[in-house]
Amino acid sequence: MTAVQAPGGAELDQVRHIRTEIPGPRSRELADRRGGALPAGLVSSAQVYVRAAGGGVVEDVDGNRFIDFGSGIAVTTVGNAAPRVVARVSEQVQAYTHTCFLATPYEPYIAVAEELNALTPGQHEKRTALFNTGSEAVENAVKYARAFTGRPAVVTFDHAFHGRTLMTMTMTAKNRPYKQSFGPFAPEVYRAPLPYPYRWPSGTADAADEAFAQLELLVDSQIGSDAVACLIVEPILGEGGFIVPPPGFLRRVAEFCRERAIVFVADEVQTGIGRTGNWFASEHEKLVPDLVVTAKGLAGGMPLGAVTGRADIMDAAPPGGIGGTYSGNPVACAAALAVFDTIRADELLERARAIGTRMITELSEIASSCAALGEVRGRGAMIAVELVAPGTKTPDAAAVAELSRYCQSHGLLTLTAGTFGNVLRFLPPLTISDDLLAEGLGILRDGFAAL
Ligand SMILES: *Cc1c(COP(=O)(O)O)cnc(C)c1O
Repeated sequence: MTAVQAPGGAELDQVRHIRTEIPGPRSRELADRRGGALPAGLVSSAQVYVRAAGGGVVEDVDGNRFIDFGSGIAVTTVGNAAPRVVARVSEQVQAYTHTCFLATPYEPYIAVAEELNALTPGQHEKRTALFNTGSEAVENAVKYARAFTGRPAVVTFDHAFHGRTLMTMTMTAKNRPYKQSFGPFAPEVYRAPLPYPYRWPSGTADAADEAFAQLELLVDSQIGSDAVACLIVEPILGEGGFIVPPPGFLRRVAEFCRERAIVFVADEVQTGIGRTGNWFASEHEKLVPDLVVTAKGLAGGMPLGAVTGRADIMDAAPPGGIGGTYSGNPVACAAALAVFDTIRADELLERARAIGTRMITELSEIASSCAALGEVRGRGAMIAVELVAPGTKTPDAAAVAELSRYCQSHGLLTLTAGTFGNVLRFLPPLTISDDLLAEGLGILRDGFAAL
């Protein structure tokens, strides 16, 4: 068989190019095959099937090329098939693909741990354990916190997303589609109000104080603070719709936890590894979490998750209590090491900030003349728009669906989000060119005009 390999990664022509109807004939063929082979509940946001991706574009099997404002849900931050990732992964697969770190250990695992220990906020003694996914890492953060404190309860927030395993699904706020028909849920998970500035009932100015008072009530009067192992929060909520808590709120929560010996966990699975213009979104709020959870952007598309944090907490789990057959797979570790190198060498933190400034400026301009665009928010290359019925704050999920369809058919891939399904979020790879970024924003501008 002689397969002609289409160019991929950074080699891919960095231009948008729509040459068939969307989806094209080959994508429709795959959709048919999929219908006969996959369960109905597995859905994809795009109707096109990928052939190659890199830089700021995704090419489908019909030869259409899309601008990528999704990065595979905040994963390919350094670009798809990024050159350094490809090189290191190729080298690694030729040396060995797997030995199981629990059986025969290897150096790349330790190197990733050293990097994360150094990069996460705080100068204290830290340790890192590796896993396969964000959900698995969050689950294990809870295990470490429980082992360390000897306490059962876990406090989470409204609008939170922490994963799809039993424990992390329980910790996730939104019923449909994440929890509906999958209960009963794990015990000892409690939920505090999240100060969602745009939607706080008594107004943005009071959101932080009122939410904090309710957190105090929940922890001190209802659960009992000596029963709480950990509190976990996304510094900017991801699936919840890129909600940015009011400045200072999370610091106050962290201090509250410290006073009660509650382990403060930052779920940086979506925000971490350069996405928001710092290595970690916690840094914008000067937070020093006890534990930081990462995954998504960590390994440039290879599956890898991590828990990094205080050595005394991480050392509390008993020998052999934590691990997994594939956890910290050497190929995924090699990819992560290439991601760290790429972010440093290509100054991608600065790039994330520049992308954010550009997006916020242009989207705010659109908002000033479009009553359906309720709010523009986010940080760095993690920006969203919330759509409402004009003149109200009534969520308009149908408008988001229409806008995202418009974008896809005009060659721009986006993702939806939000508790009410009325948020369109943008997570471009940091390797996207200024031209493609401008072109993508132009499609959005036209899409809003067409609403
Ligand atoms: C995606 C996500 C998870 C779950 O990660 P998976 O790799 O899908 O298991 C957990 N927390 C946050 C904040 C996420 O965005």
